[in-house]
Amino acid sequence: MRIVLLGAPGAGKGTQCKHIVVRYGLLHLSSGDILRQERAAGTELGKKAQSYMDSGALVPDEIIVEMMAGAIKKAPEAGFILDGFPRTVNQADELDKSLASTNKKIDAVLNLKIDDRIVAERMTGRRSCPQCGAVYHIENLKPKVEEICDNDGARLVQRPDDSPEVVANRLKTYHQQTEPVVDYYRNSNNSAVYDIDANKDADEVSVLVFEKLDALVKT
Ligand code: ADP
Ligand code: AMP
Repeated sequence: MRIVLLGAPGAGKGTQCKHIVVRYGLLHLSSGDILRQERAAGTELGKKAQSYMDSGALVPDEIIVEMMAGAIKKAPEAGFILDGFPRTVNQADELDKSLASTNKKIDAVLNLKIDDRIVAERMTGRRSCPQCGAVYHIENLKPKVEEICDNDGARLVQRPDDSPEVVANRLKTYHQQTEPVVDYYRNSNNSAVYDIDANKDADEVSVLVFEKLDALVKT
């Protein structure tokens, strides 16, 4: 199964992916996580991406498309879930072409729908583990011990691009450049598109997601 997870920054894509990959045995490919790993490793790619990420703009399509094509090649036969990619219509088109060259396609698109007013609160309260990448929230999804990762005991950090100013920019970028990707998939005959109410609690969102994907697996 090959899935694209769409939604505004902070909609809960990473949070849902964690559960989806366990239930369906898929590879989680987050473009944001890959970029952050490249930056931490000080690679050329990481250096190129830096200024775009820090301002809340999108990294240029050609860089992202090549990076994600490389990651997708390593996915197991069971498939993958893309989180944060594609983020422009051009990226979606390039992805389709690249999959079609090996007779593959995106089977399902999950569109996590969230109100803008909830996004800011989710992102400014987000905390991540610098070691294992686990994501928490200071109110909604707390670690067992405040500011400490449940998995490995590392001190949690706040992403620099989760500051209120950058969040506002990222949301604007989402509405201008990424929202049209939903219509791109709605207008294509290849992929089923499911709208999911992502304003709900994380557990309730998972139930909605599993309902759709369980039905798809059965067909
Ligand atoms: P995205 O990957 O879409 O940017 P995340 O999964 O990192 O979003 O979630 C953003 C923040 O909101 C995190 O702090 C996460 O713990 C929290 N969160 C995720 N889903 C929900 C939810 N349904 N309700 C409340 N908080 C949530
Ligand atoms: P995320 O972790 O998904 O919130 O992404 C963090 C940042 O990485 C974004 O604000 C962008 O600057 C960059 N980024 C991630 N995915 C993409 C993509 N598909 N296209 C362009 N830029 C991206």
